[in-house]
This record gives sequence, structure tokens and C-alpha cells, in this order.
Amino acid sequence: MSELRESARFESADGTVRMLLALQDGKQVESVFIPEKMRDTVCISSQVGCAVDCQFCMTAKMGLERNLSSQEIAGQVRRVIDLWKLDVKERPFNVVMMGQGEPLLNLDAVLEATAMMMDQKGMSVAPRRISLSTSGIIPKIEELGRAEKRPRLAVSLNASHQEQRERIMPITKKWRLDDLMRVCRDFPLKRSERILFEYVMLDGVNDTVEDAHRVVELLRGMEATVNLIAWNAAPGIDFARPSDEKVSAFQEIVQAALPCYQRKPRGRDISAACGQLKLVALGKN
Ligand code: SF4
Repeated sequence: MSELRESARFESADGTVRMLLALQDGKQVESVFIPEKMRDTVCISSQVGCAVDCQFCMTAKMGLERNLSSQEIAGQVRRVIDLWKLDVKERPFNVVMMGQGEPLLNLDAVLEATAMMMDQKGMSVAPRRISLSTSGIIPKIEELGRAEKRPRLAVSLNASHQEQRERIMPITKKWRLDDLMRVCRDFPLKRSERILFEYVMLDGVNDTVEDAHRVVELLRGMEATVNLIAWNAAPGIDFARPSDEKVSAFQEIVQAALPCYQRKPRGRDISAACGQLKLVALGKN
């Protein structure tokens, strides 16, 4: 497995640890370890930087530097297991590919890395505990669905209609929202599997009760769970965090139709929360 050297570490008051890992060619990626009472989670990167231009994301500002190899992806998990001496067979351990990069634009390496993580003679991570999050690369979602061993699918939805999504995620001009919903509906789910839809809430942009009702309509009939993530402020990005009342009102509407949770922000004081990973901001935010 590829050697990843830890070049910096930031520890949050809530226990979250963000690590900067140096790759052999001198580039760096980030992994975030999130210990909780009942489980541990590691959020890993699949690329150095990202080519997808989500307007709320700090990583987008880096552009894409390169894909990670399967060894470099799986190596981030290996490192966390070793460092914290985790017994992943005894205690729930989740791997989420939600760090830097669009995992579906590096799908071959992601699938190879997933197999390494699941390997019973190796890391033995439970297959149902590995997931990836995509901005919605439609043909790659279909390809993922055909893979024999694959991570679970999470989709970064973030909008309730096409025009709004184009503003937040310009990639939607190419991969349209209605087509995205179609491939999600057709996605071959395993027993008890659901698709996780993440919804970053941006004040005054996508957070109204009308948006909540439209999200319910988009996902109607799907085995779906919704995770609401109130926007985490990041320097140089012109969005604001909605009030707790707005987030709760949105959740109430969605929850009446399907499981809907608010994701607790973790590691906000060390820029480890969603959308805050970015190398060049290190030490400055
Ligand atoms: S949210 Fe994910 S896909 Fe979008 S720019 Fe950031 S890293 Fe890339």
C-alpha cells in the first residue's frame, strides 16, 4: 500500500482530526477522522483538487491537479485504522469518499480501492459502510451500478430545480437534474440500501419551504434518505448559513415524506467540515 506521510495535523475541540498527507510526488491530500460515541468515520479524498466547479466548495478553487491511485485512496483508510488502532470488526467504521475530488471521475481507482478496503484478509471494512458522494456524473452513476463490489451511492443534490442547481453546480448544465433523478430511480439497490441525497443549505438560495416541497416531489417513490447540511462559512465564498429555524422548517417538510436528518457540523474550527477542505487555505482559516 502506498506510503502516505502525514505532513500536518489539525485537531478540533470536538475530536475531529484533519490530516494533510504528502504523496510521493510532493502533492498533498486531506483526510478527516471523525470519532463519535457509537462509530468512527473517515472522510477521504479521491483526487488532488477537483475539476467540478461547485460554487459552495473550497476544493473547487484548486482545480484538478491529478487523480489519486487506488493505493493512495485505500492508503488513507489504512492509515487511520493503524493510527487509532481501530478494530473495524468490533466497532462500526464508516468510510466516506466526500473529501477532495469527484470520485466518479476517478471511478476505476475508486472501485479498486473499495475492493482493497473490503478485503477480508486486509482492512475488512464492511461493504455497507463504504460510500461515495457524487455531484451527479450520469453515465458514471450507471457504471457504478453495474460494478459487482461498489460503495454506496450518495448524491450531492443541493437544489430543488434545474435553474437553481445550475447556479450552485454548473455541471448540471451538462448532466441535467431530471436525468439525474432518472438514473437514481433506476439505480440497482441492494437489500436495505438507500440512496443518500445531501443537501447543502444556502441562505436565501435553496432553503425555502417551497424548495423543501419540491425536493419531496423529486424523490417521491425512491428509497432515499436526505441529509441536510447547513452551509459552513468559507473565506472567499459568497454564501451565508441559513438560520437554525429555516433548516428545521425544511427538515420537517421533507421528514413527513422520507427520512431526513441534519448533519451535525464537525471540525468547523479546523476547516474540516463539508466544503472547507482546501490546501492553500491551510493555517489561514
Ligand atoms: S463539492 Fe465535491 S464535486 Fe463539488 S467541487 Fe467540491 S470536491 Fe468537487
